[in-house]
Formats: sequence, C-alpha cells, structure tokens
Amino acid sequence: MARGGRAPTRILIVGGGYVGLYAALGLQRRLRRDEADLLLVNPHSFMTYQPFLPEAASGLIEPRHVVVPLRTVLKRVRLITGTVQGLDHARRTATVAPTEGHAYELSYDVVVVGPGSVSRVLPVPGLAERAVGFKTVTEAIFLRNQVLSRMDVAESTDDSNLRRRALTFLFVGGGYAGVEALAELEDLARDACRYYRSVRRQDMRWVLVEAADGILPEIGSDLGEYAVQRLQRRDIEVHLRTKLESAEGGRMVLSTGESFEADTLVWTTGVRAHPAVARMGFPLDERGRVLADEFLRVRDVLDAWAAGDCASVPDITTGGVTPPTAQHALRQAKQLARNVVATLRGGEPQPFRYRQLGALVSLGRYKGVARVMRIRLRGFPAWFLHRTYHLSRIPTANRKVRVVLDWTVALFFRRDVVQLGSLQHPRDPLREASEN
Ligand SMILES: Cc1cc2nc3c(=O)[nH]c(=O)nc-3n(C[C@H](O)[C@H](O)[C@H](O)COP(=O)(O)OP(=O)(O)OC[C@H]3O[C@@H](n4cnc5c(N)ncnc54)[C@H](O)[C@@H]3O)c2cc1C
Repeated sequence: MARGGRAPTRILIVGGGYVGLYAALGLQRRLRRDEADLLLVNPHSFMTYQPFLPEAASGLIEPRHVVVPLRTVLKRVRLITGTVQGLDHARRTATVAPTEGHAYELSYDVVVVGPGSVSRVLPVPGLAERAVGFKTVTEAIFLRNQVLSRMDVAESTDDSNLRRRALTFLFVGGGYAGVEALAELEDLARDACRYYRSVRRQDMRWVLVEAADGILPEIGSDLGEYAVQRLQRRDIEVHLRTKLESAEGGRMVLSTGESFEADTLVWTTGVRAHPAVARMGFPLDERGRVLADEFLRVRDVLDAWAAGDCASVPDITTGGVTPPTAQHALRQAKQLARNVVATLRGGEPQPFRYRQLGALVSLGRYKGVARVMRIRLRGFPAWFLHRTYHLSRIPTANRKVRVVLDWTVALFFRRDVVQLGSLQHPRDPLREASEN
C-alpha cells in the first residue's frame, strides 16, 4: 500500500550497475504502480558487465555487447542520466546533476545507494597524466585502440627509441582486473603481429608490477604462482614486491631501481568506495564505505539502503565484511529489493547471507585458473568455466545471444585488428578541411 494510502512511495536508486539494475528489477517486479514510483540515476543509459571488459578490450566481444541498455529492461523505472551529487536525507532530497543542464533537487521517500567504486589511485608522480584504469567500457575500447595504434607507430617509424617506447606496455596491480586485461591484450597483440612486417612479439615488452609477493589473492597462493608461471611462459615480465614510483614524462621508475619508457600504463591496484557517498551524510567506515547492517539498511538511518562496492556490509558467514565483487553486489541487490518491499508492506527484512563459492580468472584464450569451493582448475577447464559462468550471468537473453555469436565468429575468423582511435576525434576531418 502507498504510505498513508496516498501517493506511491518514491524510491530513488543511485547508480545503475549491479546494485542499481538488480534492485530496480526486483522492485519493479514486486511493487504495483500505485505502491511505488521508481527512479534511477546513472551517468549512462547502460549497465556495464565488467567481467567481460577484458574480452571487449581484446576484440573477442563487441564492446556494445558487454553493456546492458537500462531502458529496455527497466520498463517501469524513470531513468535519469546524470549523477547524484549529494543527499539531504533529513529532507529526503537529492541533488541531481543531469548530463546536460543545471543541477536540481529531487525529492524521494526511500533511497537505495549503489554508486559502486572508483580505481584506488596513489600519489605517484605522473600517474594522473599517463595512466588509464580498467573499470569502464571506455577504458577497454581505449586500450584496444592504444595497443594497436602503438603497433602502427612502431611499424611506421625508424626511430628506435620511439619504437621501444611504443611497444612497452606496463600494468600495475595483479588483481583479476589487471591480470585479465593484461592477458587478453597481450593475446591481441601477439595475434596482430602476423599483419605487421616489422613488429614481432619479441620486440614488445609486457610488464606486470605488483607490490605484494603474489598475484590473484582471490584464488589462493598456489594458483597465483601457477598464473605467474603461465604469464612468464608468454614472455610477460612479472615483478613482485615491486612498486611504480614515478611515471613522469612517460619514464616508468620502479622501486627496484629499474626505469624504462612506456607509452602505455594501465593502473589496476584495486578500488575504493565511490567518493559520491561521502556527500550523502551517511555513516562511513574507515575506508569510506557506507556502513550498512546485515539487512542492507544504512546503519541507524531510516528509509536508506546500501549495497555493492560502495557499502560495508557485514558478512555473517565469516564475521568480516563482504568483498567488492559482482557475486556479492548482485545477490545483495536482490535481497535489498525483497527487504525494501517487505518493509514497505509492514513485514520483516531478512539478513543478507552468501558464502562465496570461488573465483574464476581468464588468462587469455583457452587459459585460466579457477577455485570453486575446494576444487582447483587450471588451463582450458578453468577458462571454459569462466566463460560459461559469465555467459549465464550477463543480464538479458539479448546480450547472451550476442556474446555467443561474437565467440562463434571468433572461432572461425581471425581476430579483427582494426583500431578506430580516430573515433574519439570526429571533428578533425572537417576542421582540417576548413584549414586547407
Ligand atoms: C575488469 C573487471 C573485472 C571484474 N571481474 C569480476 C569477476 O569476474 N567476478 C566478480 O565477482 N566481480 C568482478 N568484478 C567486480 C565487479 O564488477 C564489481 O564488484 C561490481 O561491478 C560492483 O557492483 P556495484 O553495483 O556496486 O558497482 P558498479 O557495477 O560499478 O555500478 C555503479 C554504477 O553507479 C554509477 N555511479 C557512480 N557515481 C554515481 C553517482 N554519483 N550518481 C549516480 N550514479 C553513479 C556508476 O557510473 C556505475 O554505473 C570485476 C571488476 C572489473 C573492473
């Protein structure tokens, strides 16, 4: 029932990622139109399925197919493309900045907070000017174009220094995002070499730098060591217990004292809660995440819920806090939607309980590592499981079919090595025409 038998409850959802999409789906399915008005604010009109970004970067999946158009699935939700800049929860008012036009205030009755996370950036000189992260489809497309354009540069110059710099690719951070991105892009470059006369794999330098003494902590140290060996067998340099100290002027200085020039620097050293949550007036933990209880309510605050990477949610199966993974965000969103509905109807919310089953990491085509409960998998079986699992998880039948078609095409045809970096400068041809 609408509160007080009057207007429908207005539910504002901040963010359209895993949390936003799945919470909105749960709410639109369970709540009648006269019970609730649903609004979702997200900077884009799509949700990004991040586990497929490495394959979008390497060209095995068309980038448009790793995003899910929110308007087509959230038919009962009003989607506002923009950002929530802050909340005045006492007044139940949000400040919304649309992608164009001035910011305005939006009133709500209940808020669901899910703006996710941003890359954790450290004060390394030159980082902001030189590095690119790996969290968005924009970054994935950029990196694909970057790798291929650097190969074009190397093929077309007779300057050996320029060539060496163009063919050096540095990745900082050995978590699954960085390792999968590195493995897929190296596969792409290796395959692309066949189309270049003077660029061979041995002319390139692919480097992974990790501050800890192992990579992929999610899958355990033995599989992490196996992954290091697999990467090294592909002539990828893995520097453990090493940090990037400077990237100024494109010269990469490592904590071991080594330094070299590189045109490509990918920074994937983990995530932190989205800074937007600091402007919402909610209690935060020491890492800047919104403090939530096991029911996914913002702690000690009425009518406010939070989940996903931006939230500190107690893990009642381990006694700790749930990690920032899609597995958790998706399930939290579904539980959150059930709890919001129960609360609106005068029922009791249920605690979030999920024991992570394992972790799956792709190391490029036909290669991978996986831990599923106590079972450890390597090579093709792990890669196959990674693909099958994520295919089953990407939202909508439409996206599943398109991804399968992309994979099928990739089985029968060689990889597409076109780079369309010029797409980022659509006005250049007309400007040049007007100058000549
Ligand atoms: C390359 C990569 C691979 C990954 N692979 C896996 C994997 O294999 N398995 C796994 O479990 N996890 C994986 N993850 C982690 C997983 O993607 C995240 O844990 C998950 O996306 C978190 O969901 P979320 O809804 O909290 O945030 P997100 O999915 O990031 O969504 C947050 C949304 O909120 C929007 N937003 C931000 N600020 C505002 C604002 N102020 N107002 C409105 N909207 C805002 C953002 O633009 C975004 O659309 C991977 C992550 C990356 C980057």
